[in-house]
Amino acid sequence: MEIDPDAINLALHRFFLNEYSVKGLITDEDQKYISLIAPTLDIALVELTRYKNLSSEHAGAGKESNKLYFSGEIADKGDGIIIREVMADGSVLTMSAYHPQNTDWQEGIQLYVRHFLTALLIIKGRYLLTEQVSYATNYDLQFGIHSQNYAMKLMTILIQKNEIEQYTGIFFNIRNMAGINALLGREQGTIVLHSYIKKIQDCLGENETVWRIGGDNFGAIIHRTHLPCVTELLQGADIFFSDTQNDRVRISSWAGLYNIDSKVKTCFEIMDAISASMYIAKNSLRIPLLFYDERTIRMVEHSKKIETSFEDALRNNEFTAYYQPKVSLKTYTLTGAESLCRWQKENGIVPPDSFIPILERSKKICNLDFYMLEKVCTDLQHWIEQNLEPVRVSVNFSRKHLGNTDFVRHVLSILDAHRVPHNMIIAEFTETTNAADFERLKEVVAELRDNGIEVSVDDFGMGYSSMSLIRDVQFNELKIDKSFLEGSQENSSRKHIMMKHVIGMANELGMSVITEGVETTEQIEMLKELGCFYGQGFFFDRPLPYEQFSQRLKSKNYNTNRSA
Ligand code: C2E
Ligand code: CA
Ligand code: CA
Repeated sequence: MEIDPDAINLALHRFFLNEYSVKGLITDEDQKYISLIAPTLDIALVELTRYKNLSSEHAGAGKESNKLYFSGEIADKGDGIIIREVMADGSVLTMSAYHPQNTDWQEGIQLYVRHFLTALLIIKGRYLLTEQVSYATNYDLQFGIHSQNYAMKLMTILIQKNEIEQYTGIFFNIRNMAGINALLGREQGTIVLHSYIKKIQDCLGENETVWRIGGDNFGAIIHRTHLPCVTELLQGADIFFSDTQNDRVRISSWAGLYNIDSKVKTCFEIMDAISASMYIAKNSLRIPLLFYDERTIRMVEHSKKIETSFEDALRNNEFTAYYQPKVSLKTYTLTGAESLCRWQKENGIVPPDSFIPILERSKKICNLDFYMLEKVCTDLQHWIEQNLEPVRVSVNFSRKHLGNTDFVRHVLSILDAHRVPHNMIIAEFTETTNAADFERLKEVVAELRDNGIEVSVDDFGMGYSSMSLIRDVQFNELKIDKSFLEGSQENSSRKHIMMKHVIGMANELGMSVITEGVETTEQIEMLKELGCFYGQGFFFDRPLPYEQFSQRLKSKNYNTNRSA
């Protein structure tokens, strides 16, 4: 029989590839082997069938079938030889061979036909596997959208084609995903997130993609013409989560964007630019969208500098504690202090806002906090030795400590090493936004209290979980954020009402209440009226260096100080 190799090749590809477009899976060797052997073995037709799984095979439902003819159509194919295999992905394949004259092969030949069919089945198995692997690398399995791997390839292709400058890269983080999950439940939260991503995908065309970076972080490569459509959604979109028109939730993002420069050589440069901008947008500037530009570059450089110089600075004792007095508003006497970190560099003192948020991205902040606790303990020890009757000192602890199971033990070991009574220290924690942190915070607070260390909730009123936080976690002190005193008169009556209730509730729960940011006598009168009798702020003192605060300890009365 005549064999036309091209026709056989084409037929083979149709046979194996009708559902996939994975190329190059039949090696040249395979092709030669199949197209030579089939006619030699007197095989007229090979048929492949596939069921998705055992139960659809059982029900005879959804059968896919491909045929490969080696000698034109045959009228009645008869029984043939059939082999069957359940594949790694759970699908059921059969491979059958039919004789041209619809008779059986001689017994000796039958074995070869079976071997031949087995070889074909192995080749098909290879297809399926490759298909799965390629899916797993190009798609996010949970979301069914493209993966980072796919996006990297797309960016690389666009760079190679010199088209990248027509595109914008975006790194976006869903705003308050924890809150959305808390509101709707995780499952519904995921569905809502899906719909949001789908809306963004609908803005895009060919050679553009939205992909999942991980968790609630996503990336996008979009043609510049589609930018307005996408940025609008990033700033907020109403997502319906049930059939009723009222059940909807507003989803928005923190986003770092980069109008990609033609000079860009690798996709990593794009990733660095968009992730840095997102980070600054979310954590430093608190703005929804930030384009990568001169200013962001400077901020990124600043962060890098902080991160690389931190360890040395710690070793060189460049950090020091300033103390800001906490004052009784009834008696105008000093009742406590908060330790605040200062970085003393050669060219001056650096305030914490310019380095604490950067250190907070890594665990570095924890080293700084422990260092500060040591400083505070050393200072307290000096004051005790000098009979200065020190006041209790509040120390700030980052939420990053919550991940450390040794945290409380470490704190106690520092206090004990300096022979500082546990009740001289108050630990300040800011509110938490995620549920896991919340549970852990509860444990840490209980453990600290069991060991005689009081705990304060800092910046109260800034986060989302305020009310349940003070209801469920046994804090000793509530510190109202200075933003309640700051700013215009515009919404002051609202703030006033909120403060009144918060203070009332805290008092009822037996918590001590202090307000920070006190700058005027009017504010003091208002606070007293609302039932808050402790304050901290520039009205009394700015954060003071060790020497000056030591003087304060000698005369704790602000009445005499003020009139003096
Ligand atoms: P915070 O804990 O809320 O500290 C209070 C901040 O408010 C201090 O800023 C203080 O100087 C400022 N402040 C006090 N009174 C007034 C006032 O009357 N008006 C105004 N406008 N501001 C007032 P500071 O010292 O710059 O610290 C900023 C933040 O840095 C702190 O906010 C805290 O979150 C963080 N921080 C400082 N030291 C440490 C530390 O050792 N560890 C950790 N984890 N964070 C620290
Ligand atoms: Ca604080
Ligand atoms: Ca505060």
